Amino acid sequence: CTKQQGRQGYTVFNHQLRINQADQLALESELRRALEVDDQLQPYFQPFIDARSGELVGFESLVRWLHPVRGLISPALFLPVAEESGLITRVDRYMINAACRQLRQWLDENRVSRDIALHINLSSANFHDPELVSWMRGIIEAYQLPAAILHLEITESALIDVPEIAATVMHALHELGVKLALDDFGTGYSALSYLHRYRFDVLKIDQSFVFDVDRKEESAAIVRAILALAQALGLDVVAEGVETAAQLSRLQEMGCAKLQGYYFSAPMLAHAIDWERLARFVQEFRRAA
Ligand code: C2E
Ligand code: MG
Ligand code: MG
Ligand code: MG
Repeated sequence: CTKQQGRQGYTVFNHQLRINQADQLALESELRRALEVDDQLQPYFQPFIDARSGELVGFESLVRWLHPVRGLISPALFLPVAEESGLITRVDRYMINAACRQLRQWLDENRVSRDIALHINLSSANFHDPELVSWMRGIIEAYQLPAAILHLEITESALIDVPEIAATVMHALHELGVKLALDDFGTGYSALSYLHRYRFDVLKIDQSFVFDVDRKEESAAIVRAILALAQALGLDVVAEGVETAAQLSRLQEMGCAKLQGYYFSAPMLAHAIDWERLARFVQEFRRAA
């Protein structure tokens, strides 16, 4: 088991399920059923906070599978099955729809402002789906959302797989007004060339650099370089995986604009979000300043 999975608390499921072929087939048919009948797939939401003001500026939606027998299954475990079986595009559409429906409700309840960002992860398989863009337009219209609220998070590996189609689809998504974020920035092989080839709006600094940004000069140097690059290119930045006050203040000193991580909140079901706690970061940051 990897350290990262251990930190996220899914070690047990990994041991149980990793993964013989019979299990793989079982999971695949169970996932198919989950997409068709039940509310087994659930969007969890994790906030981002503005590093200066402490205000809530966005949420990322993250899929969880509440399996009737196996319990809560992490995406690290079932997304590979979804990818291999071709179900991943259906998972992603399910999540986009569910997250947008939730956002509509928060807007109606005045929980969030219309400047909020909703980040949704998009697998590379979607780039082969000729209906994706018109389907997205339908979702935006159905929920009456400002398109610029929606940010699709794409990883570098998604771009390695399908560079040409990706460029076309990303362009069409931009025409709709949707924003694009490059996820896990810094972990791929040719991150810089992607910035050159594709137009992104946001960089998400991978949590592996945030992890020891306050203790290791190499990590701090990488984060500083990413921030300088983002500023030069006019991109917004979110640092992922902020867990401690020391990481937080280091990233604030460095001028990182937005912060996401367990320090603020783990990903939560919508009804479990502690809005009052989120609101308190504004005072907390003011006191610290
Ligand atoms: P990601 O998009 O890079 O998401 C960040 C991961 O870091 C999430 O893991 C999140 O729960 C975790 N995380 C957040 N804050 C912290 C922190 O402070 N410390 C640490 N150690 N971890 C933190 P999660 O939810 O297990 O998701 C794993 C990956 O699965 C995501 O990485 C994303 O690539 C993928 N994924 C999740 N939901 C979806 C989805 O609906 N569609 C697709 N295609 N991929 C998804
Ligand atoms: Mg992401
Ligand atoms: Mg990420
Ligand atoms: Mg990641």
